[in-house]
Amino acid sequence: MDTYRFCARLTVALLTIFAAAGVEGPAAEGTRGYPIRPVPFTAVRLTDQFWSTRVETNRAVTIPFGFRKSEEEGRIRNFETAAGLRKGEYEGKMPFDDTDVYKLIEGAAYSLQSHPDPELDRFLDGIIAKIAAAQEPDGYLTTYKTIDPTKSPAPWLKPGPRWELELQGSHELYNAGHLYEAAYAHYRATGKRNLLDVALKNAELIARAFGPGKLTTPPGHQIIETGLMKLAEVTGEERYRQLAKFFLDQRGVSNGRKLFGEYNQDHAPVVDQNAAVGHAVRAAYMYSAMVDVAAIENDPLYRQAVQKIWDNVVSRKLYLTGAIGARHKGEAFGDDFELPNLEAYGETCASIANVYWNQRMFLQSGDARYIDVLERTLYNAAIAGVSLKGDTFFYPNPLESDGKFEFNIGALTRKPWFDSSCCPTNIARFIPSVPDYIYAIRGETLFLNLFVPSEARADVAGSPVVLRQETDYPWDGRVTLRVTPDRDRPMEVRVRIPGWAIGRPVPSELYRYADGEAGGFELRVNNEAIKPALTDGYAVISRRWAPGDTVTLTLPMPVRRVVADERVEADRGKVAIERGPLVYAAEGVDNNNSVLDLVIPRTAKFDIERRPELLGGVTVLKSTASDRKGASRPLMLIPYYAWSHRGVGKMAVWFSRETARPAMQP
Ligand SMILES: [Zn+2]
Repeated sequence: MDTYRFCARLTVALLTIFAAAGVEGPAAEGTRGYPIRPVPFTAVRLTDQFWSTRVETNRAVTIPFGFRKSEEEGRIRNFETAAGLRKGEYEGKMPFDDTDVYKLIEGAAYSLQSHPDPELDRFLDGIIAKIAAAQEPDGYLTTYKTIDPTKSPAPWLKPGPRWELELQGSHELYNAGHLYEAAYAHYRATGKRNLLDVALKNAELIARAFGPGKLTTPPGHQIIETGLMKLAEVTGEERYRQLAKFFLDQRGVSNGRKLFGEYNQDHAPVVDQNAAVGHAVRAAYMYSAMVDVAAIENDPLYRQAVQKIWDNVVSRKLYLTGAIGARHKGEAFGDDFELPNLEAYGETCASIANVYWNQRMFLQSGDARYIDVLERTLYNAAIAGVSLKGDTFFYPNPLESDGKFEFNIGALTRKPWFDSSCCPTNIARFIPSVPDYIYAIRGETLFLNLFVPSEARADVAGSPVVLRQETDYPWDGRVTLRVTPDRDRPMEVRVRIPGWAIGRPVPSELYRYADGEAGGFELRVNNEAIKPALTDGYAVISRRWAPGDTVTLTLPMPVRRVVADERVEADRGKVAIERGPLVYAAEGVDNNNSVLDLVIPRTAKFDIERRPELLGGVTVLKSTASDRKGASRPLMLIPYYAWSHRGVGKMAVWFSRETARPAMQP
């Protein structure tokens, strides 16, 4: 046995012991009933710099920082006040401040799985005890209503008794939804029922209050639907699944009430909706829940509707960075092709929701185009939302900054916190779930979706298969996957060939490569070149696998020029630059404080330069551009996600393709 095979066998042995010790952890979120299941993040160990640094920063900085801010700003005291443990009024300006605490618990629970920490575990138990104490005897839990239902935290919200008035804005069911998501994660990570029991008591109350012949108003802000699906998964209770579908089915159905309208996706029954409208975070959480219903209930009407909405987004409403929700006003989707750059909204929460949604679309279908959108969002819009240090955040994520328009809720760069701090706490719960998106399984098929150095233990049709992936992605396109089943066995391995590698930046005509290069890839098994068929965006390798067999994928990473559909006014006559999965941006600090007038000619050649000391280690692109008058200028581009770390300044993703021509003479 050679050293390499010996190591592979040793890994199998160690991981088998690891699993036998009960460390393998939970199935990934919301997956029961889907034809495909992810290899859960708890069975995946990151071995790279790029992602493990981010997960560790999230654990060591973002989560403690979020808890400290929640303590300072009264979000945890609100639970104590509601419990009668102290006297006082509700602190905070939003009716959904409770959810920040829930999201932090969710993120902390995920990180406990990969990084056991008894002190954090005890800390969570302390907070959960306060949450349990704040719960009313019948299960109700929303602190501002319990503290004083005659007062409202926000001027736009009328005070009143629980969920009978203003359910459109009260966020009571939104608070419940994040409680369920946190309880699910905490239970699966720790095996403790303390938060799960609070969640179930609340869900029982809501199930008694809402339903046919009872209250029929849908939530003003979606998320309870996916939360209920998760409670159904851990308890096996069908009622929770039915309640989730009931809430979805009430949207756009008046039943004697005034519809909330497009902002809340309450303008038409969900199965009749065919375009993304309204508040983007609400929408993408709802679309995620619709895929849950489509997959788990096997509902064709839900499947068709959510597919139409996805087609609408991907062909008309998706930023090149994967961000969604173009408008500041209403934090909402714009019209078709309404994708401004300077005034782009692209809320961080909406990018996270876009990942959740596309992951579910993949788990339902096995089609790589959803992972293409997921990857684009993940590597660009989503991680731009948090600083490299992990303690400042973007709420909106524009694709241009003039150094004057204070896009980030009164700021020109990332901020530590917001009155509505949904984005920082959503980052905290999202980052540790990233290892969930790398591998997946359907029957005898193993999917390799994301290229992230990692070791994983997958159960393929009941037998363990150890995976070891090595790559320098996203900086380099060579990927090696070592596949070690416990014995020689037939198996299908599907290796995702990213759309960007085969001439298709997005699975639509919204963006296309303008440089004519077809791209391509090379695949080898045990160093022997193969040319497998491409099915649903995957190279399908069906063979007998022996321990230590190796797949090598090579994805060339030339610098690519991207142009947008002419109907996107903001990008007309412009070009953006990509390399691999990354969108690049020019910042003033690297470009003589002048990036908005840059012209990148068709003939521009780029030098690719590794800069380990810059911005946590990036690859920069260098070339020669010109200004509008044609004067030549040096150009340096950095990955978009890393912008705004070196002071306030200008930034652009889209550049003019041509210098201004002299006016035509008649
Ligand atoms: Zn947000």
